Amino acid sequence: MAASSLPSPQVIKTLAKLIHEADALFIGTGAGMGVSSGLGTFRGKAAGVWLPLKELGIDFTEMSNPAWFAKPRGKGVGTVNFAWSFWKYRYDAYSSTAPHKGYELLRQWSESRRLGGFAVTSNIDGHWLASGWQDDRVMEIHGSVHFQQCADPEHPKCQSSLWKVPSLQLSIDPASNSAIDPLPACMHCGGMARPNVLMFDDCEWISHRYDEAEEHYQEFKNKIHGAHKAKPATASLSRESKAARDDLDADSSDRPPQPHPSQQQPVAERKESADDTGSTGKPVLKQRAKVVVIEIGAGTAVPSIRWESERLVREFGGHLIRFNPEAPQIPSGLGEGHHSITADSLSVLELIDEQLKLLRSASTSEEEKGSAATPCSITM
Ligand SMILES: [Zn+2]
Repeated sequence: MAASSLPSPQVIKTLAKLIHEADALFIGTGAGMGVSSGLGTFRGKAAGVWLPLKELGIDFTEMSNPAWFAKPRGKGVGTVNFAWSFWKYRYDAYSSTAPHKGYELLRQWSESRRLGGFAVTSNIDGHWLASGWQDDRVMEIHGSVHFQQCADPEHPKCQSSLWKVPSLQLSIDPASNSAIDPLPACMHCGGMARPNVLMFDDCEWISHRYDEAEEHYQEFKNKIHGAHKAKPATASLSRESKAARDDLDADSSDRPPQPHPSQQQPVAERKESADDTGSTGKPVLKQRAKVVVIEIGAGTAVPSIRWESERLVREFGGHLIRFNPEAPQIPSGLGEGHHSITADSLSVLELIDEQLKLLRSASTSEEEKGSAATPCSITM
C-alpha cells in the first residue's frame, strides 16, 4: 500500500483550530504510535516481531502468554528461557528507541489546554513516561515492560507486588534463542519473575498500576464533567434562556443519536445555568467543556483503545481525530465533526503544531490589542 499523502492545508487548519479551542484533550494510542519511533506493530504492514517466531511458526499471541513462565528451565522452545529471550528482545527494542517528537507535541498541547490532557495507551514501551508526561496523566492499560511481578502472584510472600526494573540484563544463546541463567527472579520469594504486562489469557497480571491510573483517569473525567465556561450575559434573561436552548440544540448535532447516560448530567446543568448570576450580578450561561479525542495507531485486532475513543466521544461530545493508515473508519453513529487521517501521524502532528503556533500568536496579539484599547477609549 502506497503511503497516503498529507491532508490539505485546510484540513490541517481545521484540526489545529479544534485543538486550539479545546478545553481538554484525550489521547489514545496503540502500536501504530511507535512506528514513527522506528518500532514495528504486531500486525498489518508495519508488523515486526521477534524473528524466531516467524522461523518456528509460532504466533505472537501464543508467545505473549503467561503459561510460558511455568515452563521448565532449559534451552529452546518449550522452556521459560525461550520466553525470556522473547521478552528481552521486546525490552531492548522499546528501551533502546527514543520516543518520537509527537509525544512531546501532544504533551505541550495538553498542558496548554484549560483542563489539560490525559493519555491512554495499549503500548507497553513506557514511551509516554519517558517523554516527560506526568504519571498521573498516563494510563498504560496493558502494563509496561519496565515493571516486573512474581510469576506466582498467589505466593504468600509476594502476592500483589510489582517492581520497576531499571534495566534487563540477560545474555542470549543465539543457537537456541534462549536466555542464559540466571533469569529474572521475584524480589520477594526468589521464584520466577515475569514482565508486568497483560498478556493473552492472563489471569495472573497484577493490576495495581492500572488501578491507580484508572482513578486518575476518572478524576480527570470528573473534572471535565464539572467544568463549565461562564459566558456573561449581555441581554435579557429570557433572550439568554432562548440562546441556551439554541446552544443545546446546536450541540446536539455533535452528539450520537443515543447518548451515553453519563452525558446527561452536564447538559442538565447547562439548562439550569441560565438562572445563575455572575460576579457582575448579570445572568451567565455555562458552556460544556470542549473535548478533542486524538487517537493514533490503534488497531482493530484488540480494539480497546478504539472503543475507548468512541466511548469518550459519546460521553463528552466533541471531536475524534483518528490517525490510522489501515483502519481509519469512524462509525457513522458518532455523528459529524470527526476526522480520519491516513498519512504518517508524526508529519501531520508537526503540521498541526505549526498552525497552533500561528493561532496562539494571533490570540496573544488580540489580547494585547484588547488590553491596549482601554486607555485609548478613555481619551476619546
Ligand atoms: Zn514471588
